[in-house]
Amino acid sequence: MSDLPQSVRIREVGPRDGFQNEPEVIATDDKIALVDGLARTGVKRLEVTSFVRADVIPQLADGPEVLDRMDVPDDVAVTVLIPNEKGLDNALRQRERFSEVNCFLSASETHNRKNVNRSIEESLSGLERVIGRARDEGLRAEGVISVAFGCPYEGAVPRERVWDIARRLRDAGAEEIAFGDTTGMANPLQVRSYFGEAREALGPDVELTAHFHNTRGQGLANVLAALEGGCSSFESSFGELGGCPVPKGATGNIATEDLVSMLHEMGIETGIDLDAVVAMARRAQEVLGRPLGSHTLVAGPVDWHA
Ligand code: ZN
Repeated sequence: MSDLPQSVRIREVGPRDGFQNEPEVIATDDKIALVDGLARTGVKRLEVTSFVRADVIPQLADGPEVLDRMDVPDDVAVTVLIPNEKGLDNALRQRERFSEVNCFLSASETHNRKNVNRSIEESLSGLERVIGRARDEGLRAEGVISVAFGCPYEGAVPRERVWDIARRLRDAGAEEIAFGDTTGMANPLQVRSYFGEAREALGPDVELTAHFHNTRGQGLANVLAALEGGCSSFESSFGELGGCPVPKGATGNIATEDLVSMLHEMGIETGIDLDAVVAMARRAQEVLGRPLGSHTLVAGPVDWHA
């Protein structure tokens, strides 16, 4: 077990992974207010929307307008999710509004087929072109591998297959690879050995990121295991918003406020103002008109003097 890192990087993915998977379509003005607020919590990476087809994900049909009208400080890296070359073409019309693209595929054939209706190889060869073109545009590229810890349709996912996919994305120009526990199947023992092996397989230069969902309440335990395994980059959603289109019931990302609370209590820096994130989660709760799942939202930040 290595020493824990003194600081970690967090990418807030709620405006994309979260809003996309909530049943309601959130009003554009509310989205923009939440994005602008999140961008002032101290978070330095913010995934704002995706360029998927509006008929596939109507919740994000206003992505271009959100990008256009949001007011995000210059030191916050804005990410957009790009499913394919057509999505990249559309995104590039607003090239100056973001600095990173996030390209995704699944580590299992069945999940990839159900999610994007392509084989892994079809997805990979398309994303290699997307990443190459994005890099030519001066954009940073992140590759996200979904169901990297287990697949609800196929069961165990061989790590060698995940590393093979990750190498292809890296070689295409991705500077960061995120491993998604998209449907909440990972456990801490599995995670503890995962990132060290990934580092060995992928070499020292690519950033390795953990993207955990809290589907079965194991998200933060998996974060600790990932930290112990050498991972220092995480993705999370304020309010524990989010999920995955397939299968049904694959609920929320780990909550940013729960992640930040745990890390700060452990003495690990995030640069994020916890009270400010809680305030944004509370605002999202008001917008949606129902309680959200995060614990810190209910209990409030730890107060040692109470
Ligand atoms: Zn996710």
